[in-house]
Amino acid sequence: MWQEMNKPKMATEKGASRVLMLLGQLERLNEEPKVSDTDATRQITGKILHIIQTQEKTRKEVMSKGSSGMDVILSTLENTGDLQTTLNVLSILNELLTVGGGRRTGVFVSKGGTAILLQLLVSSSKDPLNEELMLHIHTLLFKVGPKDDITSSSDRKFGVKARLNGALNVTVNQAKHNLQNHKLLLPCLQVLRVYSGNLVNAVSLGKSGALELMFEIIGPFSKKSTTLLKVALDTLAALLKSKMNARWAVDRGYIPTLLAIYQDWHRNDTRHRHMIIRKSILGCIKNLTNIKLGRKAFIDANGMRILYNTSTECLPVRTLDPLVNTSSLIMRKCFPKNRLPLPTIKSVYQYPLPRILAGGPVAQLYSLPPGVDDVVDESDENEATEVDTENDTENEDDETGHKTQNDDIETDINKLRPRQMQSRPFDELRVYERFCLEFTQYFKDNDFQSPGSVMPPSSFDPNRHHPLIIPTTQNRRPKNIQPPRSNDSPLELDSISISKTLEGKPNPDLACSLGQLVLDGDVSVNGESGDGPQEESGDQAVIEVPDTAALLPLHDPDLYLEMVKGTRSVPAYTEVAYPDYFGHVALNLREPILERAYGVQSRTKIFQDIERLIHPSDILDRVVYDLDNQSCPILDNGESLKFNSKFESGNLRKAIQIRKFEYDLILNSDINSNHYHQWFYFEVGNMRPGVRYRFNIINCEKSNSQFNYGMQVLMYSVQEAINGSPQWVRTGSDICYYKNHFSRSSIAAGGQKGKSYFSMTFTVTFQQKDDVCYFAYHYPYTYSTLKMHLQKLSGLCTSEIYYRQDELCETLGGNSCPLLTITAMPESSSNEHISQFRSRPVVFLSSRVHPGETNSSWVMKGSLEFLMSSSPQAQSLRESYIFKIIPMLNPDGVINGNHRCSLSGEDLNRQWQNPNAELHPTIYHAKSLLQYLRATGRTPLVFCDYHGHSRKKNVFMYGCSVKETVWQTNVNTSNCDLHEDLGYRTLPKLLSQMAPAFSLSSCSFVVERSKEATARVVVWREIGVQRSYTMESTLCGCDQGKYKGLQIGTRELEEMGAQFCVGLLRLRRFTTPLELHNHNSHLLDMENDLKDPRSIPNITSPTTYVLEEDEPAFLEEVDYSAESNDENDPDFEPDLQDNRVLPDPSSDSELSRQDSLT
Ligand SMILES: [Zn+2]
Repeated sequence: MWQEMNKPKMATEKGASRVLMLLGQLERLNEEPKVSDTDATRQITGKILHIIQTQEKTRKEVMSKGSSGMDVILSTLENTGDLQTTLNVLSILNELLTVGGGRRTGVFVSKGGTAILLQLLVSSSKDPLNEELMLHIHTLLFKVGPKDDITSSSDRKFGVKARLNGALNVTVNQAKHNLQNHKLLLPCLQVLRVYSGNLVNAVSLGKSGALELMFEIIGPFSKKSTTLLKVALDTLAALLKSKMNARWAVDRGYIPTLLAIYQDWHRNDTRHRHMIIRKSILGCIKNLTNIKLGRKAFIDANGMRILYNTSTECLPVRTLDPLVNTSSLIMRKCFPKNRLPLPTIKSVYQYPLPRILAGGPVAQLYSLPPGVDDVVDESDENEATEVDTENDTENEDDETGHKTQNDDIETDINKLRPRQMQSRPFDELRVYERFCLEFTQYFKDNDFQSPGSVMPPSSFDPNRHHPLIIPTTQNRRPKNIQPPRSNDSPLELDSISISKTLEGKPNPDLACSLGQLVLDGDVSVNGESGDGPQEESGDQAVIEVPDTAALLPLHDPDLYLEMVKGTRSVPAYTEVAYPDYFGHVALNLREPILERAYGVQSRTKIFQDIERLIHPSDILDRVVYDLDNQSCPILDNGESLKFNSKFESGNLRKAIQIRKFEYDLILNSDINSNHYHQWFYFEVGNMRPGVRYRFNIINCEKSNSQFNYGMQVLMYSVQEAINGSPQWVRTGSDICYYKNHFSRSSIAAGGQKGKSYFSMTFTVTFQQKDDVCYFAYHYPYTYSTLKMHLQKLSGLCTSEIYYRQDELCETLGGNSCPLLTITAMPESSSNEHISQFRSRPVVFLSSRVHPGETNSSWVMKGSLEFLMSSSPQAQSLRESYIFKIIPMLNPDGVINGNHRCSLSGEDLNRQWQNPNAELHPTIYHAKSLLQYLRATGRTPLVFCDYHGHSRKKNVFMYGCSVKETVWQTNVNTSNCDLHEDLGYRTLPKLLSQMAPAFSLSSCSFVVERSKEATARVVVWREIGVQRSYTMESTLCGCDQGKYKGLQIGTRELEEMGAQFCVGLLRLRRFTTPLELHNHNSHLLDMENDLKDPRSIPNITSPTTYVLEEDEPAFLEEVDYSAESNDENDPDFEPDLQDNRVLPDPSSDSELSRQDSLT
């Protein structure tokens, strides 16, 4: 090979031929081992070395592509028995591999250099020590072995090769015997460091005494031999990744030793020149504390206090961040696991079910033997290896997530092929005819009115005006001077109270103190009804309820109270939250996604948490709110905040004052469940203005949250509302979401042991004195709000609109599930018009199956308002379709403050395959209605279920495509029939063109196994709706389009709902055969363009497929600190005064075409 490839080359390169000529001579000598001339070889290698040492370009010649110089050199090394020749060759290699980056090393490795070198090491270890030889070999080995630098093309199998060649012990022994000979010791240690990167090697090296060796080398602060020390520490850290080694080191008491060494360096390295050594010491401690024994030893050695104190001293120096971060990681890991301060993790409220399915979640929940402590289990005794990355909250879920994602794609072609399953017999379905009267109804000319609501109308008069009466703070003061009455109820504690009067007289229906709007129904929580706020009305100044009628046409406080009276909650709530009563006026402000503040997580918050352990006496641990112990006396020391969430959609179980201005909050589980909490909605009073309060929700379950990526909580100030700004605003600073030290029972973690909860922490400074404020996960939208909106919407009905409200069914909790039918009235009672009326395609929309996803209700509100509006587009839309809408699929969950489930303790969006009529009535009847529609030849054109997404930005859709699913599975597709209409792409594509919050690249059309019981997949597969979607709206904000960098608000959500309708209007043009026939052949082109898979970006990107429908294990890769919030974004129009979002002008032409068609 050498001759074939290089001879010609050598002949052509005259000037550079000397080194190549010498290599040629060397090669000939190698080929004739019998006449081996040691002197000649020695001489030639010596010459080559000299040339290479003195002329840089000759190295390039030897290593140039096509040159076989490396073969010759390695062959010489392998075959020579001469020490001097060996040394020469090793020197040549050292010169060659010093520069040239990974390529030269790659050539060396590919030619088998590593093994030759290792064999040389082992064979020469049998001879008396030759220091120079050992030095050369180890220096070279170190160059070849893998480094931390991932990009280098070093020998990835180095560790295995070293072990198989028996080199490990040779190097250990060399190091042992040369402890004082630093010149040789250093390369030996460097090679040991490389060896120990392999875990099996680490165990083997540990047995060979490598650990003792390292502990001999490392020591207290010294300015000498820092390089050596650093390598020894890094080697030690690598060795300690083996649990066996770690146990050995802990048993011998090395944790206190390492802590002492660390403190010594911390004290003496005053100018921070040796930060990396200090970090390496921490690296050893970090690995030792991966084992439970190590964590215990760390605590016993006072490690928490030592690292806390040193870190606190490091905090002001930014360059010492790595020390602070690693210390923080160790401390969090070693922080003793606590149990949640709860008697049980089961929901405070139980709801007796009509039946409990054996083996179901509720049966499991209540089958635990009495007395079993479900808050903790032996799981915290488990030696769980914590994920050890510096940012474990961000990374840990991704790895597990990726595995399950790939496993989750549906690969069964038979399951993928949409097929219409057997539905209920038509005789049974016939009862759903009553929800579809428009298909049978006859219209008489004199009775041309919309059917309106078939639900009992309210006798309520929305035009009456009701002043609220609020005593001023001054008026109230004298009362506070009086000795406190022993029977003061909590309701009396607020320093402002409001009473509502009707024409000067106390309203018998209502008594409210600020933050405590109490319905005087069957149950009165106010124990002193005769001494309640009503009596004080004489002292009270009159304040108007914020007049929001102009801004909020669908809101009416009094109507809201009427609606509340008919809402049935499990806890039998009698209070009304002010925000729901006053209403929410969308802000005209832009609310930017927060930039992630530097170090909030690792510095401030974590350290404050660690202080709980360091300074336990500073911790108040005072329970100030507790649903589990309602009789627990609420102490009023004037210092503590007051909490409450006993109102619709409220969810706060317990509040514990930790420090003067810090509270731990615990959320309640979904009813008949022991987990599923993320949603929160609660009220806070008795605050001091101008003080920073920290709130920690300590039992969050998801492993990451948009709270780490700029999302803020929502706050509603009652004072602000009264002063004319009734609105939810994004608020809170120092927000972060991280794994905490409260251990999670495996019972609630799907059997997984050793899991922890997560804390969501935020800091708020209240502006107003004597205020009552509300906090929520997202803009609340209660069931009573829905009923109010529907009532107001029905009032918008004109003679052109066909609007009917039916009761789809009653929920488990005894609430009505509304079903709306909206379309246009037929133009006349002529046969032609009635026929057109009845032949309109059906669009089926639903929302809010998940109670915590309130954003989906706001999107639905936007859709409903658009559908009921008087705009020509809305009329056109109504004339195009018959809309069947279930705006709230899970009223009970919404009412009772659940996050995910219904009263059955189950996720209703996992019940569509086989819904139980008793336990899942809304799903059962919604599906049956769809089956009825299909059976009568009215299979919907579009089905869309609105949801909210807690971990992704923007609005996007999930659909169902056989093709795209098959693509992802890499299944051989040649033998399966893959003719698929690409019409499912059209609507998302249209929405991406007109709805600013909508992002096409986030859409996915893959069918996942875990989603086979969701509405989207079942309606697609069983009902045969090709355009069956889940539409997900972010809880956070947008990272593209007009709203890029902004948090989403109700205005944007409602706009999305309206734009969805406009999208349907445009879709009509692609789905009407007549239109395609008679008009505009270019429309066909556009349709084709829309359907072209290539025009949909990122369809095959692995980050966009198979996302868990609601909360995928999604890793945000964007570093928000680097993302600009450009105030001068030309695309952004801050003037959003017009509440109704108008579609873009291009739709006008479409409108006229539409008109001409209908
Ligand atoms: Zn959802």
